[in-house]
Amino acid sequence: MGIVSLPSSEMEPEKPTRSQVLTLEEVRKELGDCKRCKLHQTRRTIVFGEGNEKATLMFIGEGPGYDEDVQGRPFVGRAGQLLTKIIQSINLQREEVYIANIIKCRPPQNRNPEPDEIQSCNPFLRKQIQVIQPKIICALGTFSAQTLLKTETKITTLRGKFYDLEGIKVIPTYHPAFLLRNPDKKREVWEDMKKIAEWINNA
Ligand code: URA
Repeated sequence: MGIVSLPSSEMEPEKPTRSQVLTLEEVRKELGDCKRCKLHQTRRTIVFGEGNEKATLMFIGEGPGYDEDVQGRPFVGRAGQLLTKIIQSINLQREEVYIANIIKCRPPQNRNPEPDEIQSCNPFLRKQIQVIQPKIICALGTFSAQTLLKTETKITTLRGKFYDLEGIKVIPTYHPAFLLRNPDKKREVWEDMKKIAEWINNA
């Protein structure tokens, strides 16, 4: 499988020196009771992300929905339950991976995140990536894939291929919420997950 290189972008994690690498707890502290964008006015809870600080595999979704906003945890609604099954399909548990989103606060009526909201949140996602140093990021859905890879290419074209983000492999796949509406697409996600598992097992 070839690795597709995309032009460098501001979404890419900067390479910090060892002493600059924080812990997730420190990143969370720095985020504080964030009011850096307008979403703080309508959110209930900041959904920071959760999982293994040393995960090889990181999943990045779009942003919290209703259930996540209530519980303060990523992917805990119906789509989240499907994500848990997807993770288990390659013999991993949720606790072994790290799960985050492009934005940490729920947009009103689950609308798409706006550019200023992504910009405000991006430094914190980048710091999370720097702390975790995953080998692979699985970008869930159009929004995550297009934002991480700074492209407008369609998810149908992006999915199932490995891209390079400063030494981290990024593989986009369909969002679990899309799979709930289009169960016939599960096969493709299964193919993508097999590629991830194969890569991890051969690394
Ligand atoms: N959809 C997402 O993209 N992220 C979540 O955390 C939940 C649903």
